[in-house]
Amino acid sequence: MKKLIFITTTALLLGVGSTSCTKSEDAEKFNYTVDKFADLQILRYQVPGFEDLTLNQKLYVYYLTEAAQEGRDILFDQNGKYNLAIRRTLEAIYTNFKGDKESNDYKEFEVYLKRVWFANGIHHHYATDKFIPGFSQEFFTEQVKAIDPSLLPIREGKTVEDLIAELTPVIFDKDVMPKRVNLAAGDDLVLTSAGNYYEGVTQKEAEDFYAKMRKPNDNQPISYGLNSRLVKKDGKVYEEVYKIGGRYTKALERIVYWLELAKGVAENDDQRKVIDLLIEFNKTGDLKTFDEYAVAWVQELTGMVDFICGFTEVYGDPLGMKASWEASINFKNIKASARTETISANAQWFEDNSPVDPRFKKETVKGVTAKVITVAMLGGDCYPSTPIGINLPNADWIRRDYGSKSVTIENITYAYDQASLGNGFKEEFVIDEETRLLMDKYGFESDNLHTDLHECLGHGSGKLLPGVDSDALKAYASTLEETRADLFAMYYMADPKILELGLLPHKDAYKANYYSYIMNGLMTQLTRIELGNNIEESHMRNRQLIAKWCLENGAEENVISFEKIDGKSYIKINDYDKLRQLFGKLLAEIQRIKSEGDYEAGKEMVETYAVKVDPELHKEVLARYKSLNLAPYKGFVNPQYRLVENEAGNVVDVAVSYNEDYAEQMMRYSKDYSSLDSYND
Ligand code: ZN
Repeated sequence: MKKLIFITTTALLLGVGSTSCTKSEDAEKFNYTVDKFADLQILRYQVPGFEDLTLNQKLYVYYLTEAAQEGRDILFDQNGKYNLAIRRTLEAIYTNFKGDKESNDYKEFEVYLKRVWFANGIHHHYATDKFIPGFSQEFFTEQVKAIDPSLLPIREGKTVEDLIAELTPVIFDKDVMPKRVNLAAGDDLVLTSAGNYYEGVTQKEAEDFYAKMRKPNDNQPISYGLNSRLVKKDGKVYEEVYKIGGRYTKALERIVYWLELAKGVAENDDQRKVIDLLIEFNKTGDLKTFDEYAVAWVQELTGMVDFICGFTEVYGDPLGMKASWEASINFKNIKASARTETISANAQWFEDNSPVDPRFKKETVKGVTAKVITVAMLGGDCYPSTPIGINLPNADWIRRDYGSKSVTIENITYAYDQASLGNGFKEEFVIDEETRLLMDKYGFESDNLHTDLHECLGHGSGKLLPGVDSDALKAYASTLEETRADLFAMYYMADPKILELGLLPHKDAYKANYYSYIMNGLMTQLTRIELGNNIEESHMRNRQLIAKWCLENGAEENVISFEKIDGKSYIKINDYDKLRQLFGKLLAEIQRIKSEGDYEAGKEMVETYAVKVDPELHKEVLARYKSLNLAPYKGFVNPQYRLVENEAGNVVDVAVSYNEDYAEQMMRYSKDYSSLDSYND
């Protein structure tokens, strides 16, 4: 299970939710698309329901959004030790440029700066490879020299020339700091990763350092290393802890300032306790306090407003210990949460009626309580690229003893959906008008339900037979686990029970999700793979596994077929009922593999259906996708919040607006929320 769900539903991956060739009324009124460059598109999201919060709740959100912005510099520095100096140098050029803005160099410069903002550094946010500028070194040198040196991040006692000499190879030389997170087996992962979580230590030294800290058989292990940089100076290895008075103190002081104000307007005592512990953690850096905070956070369920604002996910560390700074400020979407509550309340019925062998079913099952949220502000590692779902905390023992919170961020998925209207994707890849109309009508709702069923029930269903090792499926475990959860969701989506519970509006609504899933699994997800490569990522493997298995095992009855129209390939689903039966059959087999820990069968299943790509089809899909000129990755600008005062100077409201463009917002953040030094050696 992934703690952070970046893109779960297939349709969102490629922007084919409930798309339509004509823009909806809502999309006409609100401009969801903001900017497009390189492989990125910038969107804007709305915060529906904010106006309906009480003044106190609005203020609570407001103070937390301020805290959320203050961590941006921390992430830049964590992503690479030159990132802040590079960003500030580029921004100085951007602000002071006097030359020809139509020149190729300048246009490439703008693209590069926008990419640095997006990635919070010089490496691609997703692939983590360094991207190389399209402007020349001469242009860079010339522009830096043209700027008043007092506006540049020059080290003490150094000159403009020194700055240029230090940054040029980092920006331009493809062999210098080539990858932010290197996971290639055989390499020293610490020395070859450009992220700034280690300095001067080898992988072995880092591993030994933390191995010594861990206690054997600890039932509640501390997340050692989570909030520090590990350095070696004068032969000594030690931690620089992220805390007030320690590393990143200037930013953390600002964050705590806003958290204190937020505490003053919190909704209840539980929230105040959460904030107190988080402040305490920022002050002391004590990881035991961090666990206490996480326990308090997961138990706080009554407030409308919730948040994440600190060191959380460990994807940026090749050793998976050190957390990047991130923030998501949000409040509950009451109407949509009724859907996930209904699902959880009926968890036992779903377990009892599933098509798997009764020996593998749980006698008592508890659905994960998941809620649907509206995000009000994204920060740090959630900005501009954001997950659409979050499942925290990460510590396994807290999940075991206290559970976890699982959320779906519906105003973000809605913005994806609206922004994809009329982008031509469905017209290119969906076989006929009838299917397109079905997707227009029910795609958004059925995709959301898929995510809910996958998260609330799918992962939690079933059990291992006594004595079966939970690690038995090894490297195939996560693909098979995602496969299981998807199949559970899709098998039930077509069940009459779903209509009875009011979870879908029409008996055919599930077909929209079935079609987009199969089309994605067999064809369109290949747009994310380079020609000649196999499929590696576990969610992508799971989708192809399901789609290909159903294609082959339904061949005799012609359940799914490939059709050629004017030389182009399309997926046709000839029998939706039989497809559902195939999902049920495969679910039973995947559950058996998991429950019995049948490694060989799991391996066979993945290697046969999930990995290999048909090169001819792949080539065709890539060419058709390219012709649409779409950006494969998306991110968001945030709304702006403003305190509204009456004549007496009392705050009477918090106003939200959506007018900023991308560069404008980035420059404002760099001006108003930038407290760290350029170099934090
Ligand atoms: Zn999952």
